[in-house]
Amino acid sequence: MQTSEILRAWGKILKGQRPSLSIEITRECPLRCPGCYAYEDAHLGGGVTLRELSDYKGSTLIDGVLAVVDLQKPLHLSIVGGDPLVRYRELQILVPQLLDRGIHVQIVTSAFRPLSPQWAYLPHMNVVVSIDGLQPEHDARRAPATYERILKNIKGQRITIHCTITGQMMKRPGYLQEFLEFWTPRSEVNKVWFSIFTPQLGDRLPEMLTPAERLQAIAEMTEFRKKFPKLDMPEGLIRQFAAPPHSPAECIFAQTTQTLSADLRTRIVPCQFGGSPDCRSCGCVASMGLAAVAAHKLGGFIPVGAIFKASVKIGQAVSRLATAEEPDHQLLRVLPSTREKVFEEQEFVKREG
Ligand code: SF4
Ligand code: SF4
Repeated sequence: MQTSEILRAWGKILKGQRPSLSIEITRECPLRCPGCYAYEDAHLGGGVTLRELSDYKGSTLIDGVLAVVDLQKPLHLSIVGGDPLVRYRELQILVPQLLDRGIHVQIVTSAFRPLSPQWAYLPHMNVVVSIDGLQPEHDARRAPATYERILKNIKGQRITIHCTITGQMMKRPGYLQEFLEFWTPRSEVNKVWFSIFTPQLGDRLPEMLTPAERLQAIAEMTEFRKKFPKLDMPEGLIRQFAAPPHSPAECIFAQTTQTLSADLRTRIVPCQFGGSPDCRSCGCVASMGLAAVAAHKLGGFIPVGAIFKASVKIGQAVSRLATAEEPDHQLLRVLPSTREKVFEEQEFVKREG
């Protein structure tokens, strides 16, 4: 992150705004990946699931996303799903308009269909392709977005590969190295990021790492970042995997990112995982990246994290003074209204008072 970007983000925090926005732009996904948090029952808080939520399509989706963005003015927008490429046509129109507003845009996808050729050249645009390990495991978990199909669909692009390290991977020595040896020589691959599987509180899943496996993963990432320069993870970030935030209140990522689901109004809390994530086992690369920034000491002795916490308090006070209108009602005011959406809006306002 550049200093100018940190200063802009800080300015927004002082005004009580969140500099990052993440939108699940569709409830649909052609994949059924084991361990996918987006389709967990508790992801949206336990009422409806993502598949049951009403979502938008076509110009209503484009206008809706632009309305939300114009209201919240994020510096960074992460477009997730479901799989955002289900709304490929809408994204073709939406992405240039978002970039024109000076927003950094990130699309997170399984690459089950070809990426738009124009995305390869757009500045401030990052397409992140999720890969679930080496080909045999990935293809079994992620068909129809198999290795073969992904390699065809990313031709001519400049993408970031993102892989979530699981317990199964760490039980096979040399797994991460083999993964990097496969992906990093490819010209389409600009960067590789690893996360570590993040469970919900109380989970007992094969994807979870034991404490020893977590330490091993940290040691391997630290070693491999020197051997594979495309592994774009600074040492300070990797170190944070050993000491994740204890709660959402301590997580700078959760405090600075607003996540909305496919109806463009349901907020996903406390972070993109929804439900009750086990912060002490968190392995989210974005959370660790911001924790590394917070651990940095200005002038060698003032931790950025302390300044951040004070700034959030100031921002909350400022936003309380600036508007008496609830953020949910602000959103409702700007979203596109078809007859059906107006009905939902009235129901929502009635319910929420
Ligand atoms: S591609 Fe992503 S959203 Fe779709 S099932 Fe897999 S993890 Fe979930
Ligand atoms: S990103 Fe990780 S640390 Fe932050 S709130 Fe979510 S689970 Fe907790």
